Amino acid sequence: MAKIGINIATGSLQQDEIIVGIDLGTTNSLVAIMHPDTRQPLALKDVMSTTGTSSRSLVPSVIYFDESGQVVVGDEAMKHLVTDPSRTIFSAKRLMGKSYKDIRDHASYYAYKIIDDDADRLVKVQVGDRFYSPVELSSFILKELKLRAEHILKTPVNKAVITVPAYFNDAQRQATRDAGKLAGLDVLRIINEPTAASLAYGIGTKTNEEDQIIAVYDLGGGTFDVSVLRIAGGVFDVLSTHGDTYLGGDDADRAIVDYWLRQAGVSKDDMEVQSNLAQSLRLAAEQAKKHLSGNDSFSMTLNGDTLQIDRATFEQLITPLVERTMQSCRQALKDAGLKPADIDTVLMVGGSTRIPLIKKTVSAFFGKPVHDTLDPDEVVALGAAVQADILAGNNREMLLLDITALSLGIETAGGLMDVLIPRNSKIPSRASRQYTTQIDGQSGMRISVYQGERDLVKDNRKLAEFNLTGIPGMPAGLPKVEIGFMINADGILTVTAKELRSGVEQQIEVQPQYGLTDEQVEQMLMDSITHARDDMSARALTEARTEGEQLLKTTERFLQKNADMLTQEELLQTASAMQVLQLSLTMTDKDLIQQKIEALNEVSRPYAERVMDEAVAHAMKGKTI
Ligand code: AMP
Repeated sequence: MAKIGINIATGSLQQDEIIVGIDLGTTNSLVAIMHPDTRQPLALKDVMSTTGTSSRSLVPSVIYFDESGQVVVGDEAMKHLVTDPSRTIFSAKRLMGKSYKDIRDHASYYAYKIIDDDADRLVKVQVGDRFYSPVELSSFILKELKLRAEHILKTPVNKAVITVPAYFNDAQRQATRDAGKLAGLDVLRIINEPTAASLAYGIGTKTNEEDQIIAVYDLGGGTFDVSVLRIAGGVFDVLSTHGDTYLGGDDADRAIVDYWLRQAGVSKDDMEVQSNLAQSLRLAAEQAKKHLSGNDSFSMTLNGDTLQIDRATFEQLITPLVERTMQSCRQALKDAGLKPADIDTVLMVGGSTRIPLIKKTVSAFFGKPVHDTLDPDEVVALGAAVQADILAGNNREMLLLDITALSLGIETAGGLMDVLIPRNSKIPSRASRQYTTQIDGQSGMRISVYQGERDLVKDNRKLAEFNLTGIPGMPAGLPKVEIGFMINADGILTVTAKELRSGVEQQIEVQPQYGLTDEQVEQMLMDSITHARDDMSARALTEARTEGEQLLKTTERFLQKNADMLTQEELLQTASAMQVLQLSLTMTDKDLIQQKIEALNEVSRPYAERVMDEAVAHAMKGKTI
């Protein structure tokens, strides 16, 4: 087992700058701050009027790319959802850290083009001839939020706490950090949405309060989740989380539309043809739903027809949806090994929890009243602002835990930095990830450990390097090398490497290097923000090149085996597409490379499928199924 002992610099935060809390939501996003005078968290609104009536804190998480390459975010972008769906991106958050395989079952949900060539690669969205990663898409939203906050606060905003769902994995959290960086934000902490909701209600903000178990029920426009947390001594532990990323208020709207259609004797298929009318109906349904949260019946006229619904009917329509969320609550409790009575406090999050039936059902299930005094659309951002305030050192009662000042990771293909322990992780901390070989029969692997925030390792600080040798001969991609990082309470990093199939591990001692000064750390952070865009481009280019090279290799191998099953024309077309792709790899335009990858895939897809079918038919010959 290889071990490296390194003293990692631990950080302190400057206190004079404003730190905002950001709820980067699937449907809506918003920014909140701790009000310096009232000491209460406050969501930033367009117009900071004292009455605050006409202003809005929510920014729709929608991005529109017009033909000329201009980007608009928010309400303006929403207007294009129906008129220009292929250029209007919504729900980018659902794509964060996902491969096509992960979202395939819901592909029809997205009205824009998602690249589907390689099911295992991280998804990309195509708009015209440009390709965007979910990280870039989210960065457009964050940039808009940053600008908006700067406009309202009349001061630069460079530091933020961003929330993510409790079920987000490491890759999704890292993607969110990257999006922040790309938007010019130093992301001080990524916190769980249910943790933020608790902080907004003041739970867990004092170190001496009693331990509590909290359930956070979060039903938004398109997603649902419930989390069970244990809070002890200011530390939040997610005990379990359950939910459905395709269940929310939109389903209630759809249920109302279907009801109206049934009432009018119109079939759904007829409606789908008339997309404008369908859209008007959907908006009317949402209006009806909201109205019924405070009234017993709803009625309006649309194109001369009367649309009507009363609360009892609405509640009947949504009962199956509510039941699905309760099923998740049961599962989350079961996973945490708890009963409803074990829950001390229930918090309601998300716009759809305004529906009285939902409050009633959740309250009945847990056997206690729910906390719903804060605006359910704002509560997560408010909690992020509380966390920001704690990080700024303004909340004296809160215990500040030791954190890593810089990210720690290893070098991967193309000189990219792969972060295992992100900066600002609590100490002690551990992380591990599996890697594999790139060449058939590869017997060794060089592991280079870096510290820093830049995307290319050459811009970071190398801490150590060692070789894992003695990997038995296997085809590329088969070995599983697990790299483990552990920082102990004293900030010492231990790196381990082990090939899991064969069990080989290495014992190499590396001369430790010592920590950096505060000024050097600060400089490294500044550099990462200033160079974020260049870094992202460099990363995207490296990734596109690696993908292109791999595709060329697999195509070549395929041709060597199956050339006789292809027509002359197919062979020629393939050779030419390969040549063009090869050429594009020597250039620095990642969109061009992506287009050529697409083009080669277009050419090879039909015959690849045919060859596969023939192989299957051949194997099946003489066998009865
Ligand atoms: P979120 O994703 O948390 O912003 O939630 C937005 C969802 O909350 C949408 O489906 C809205 O239609 C829904 N919503 C907002 N206000 C109400 C209300 N008063 N009653 C019922 N649903 C609402």
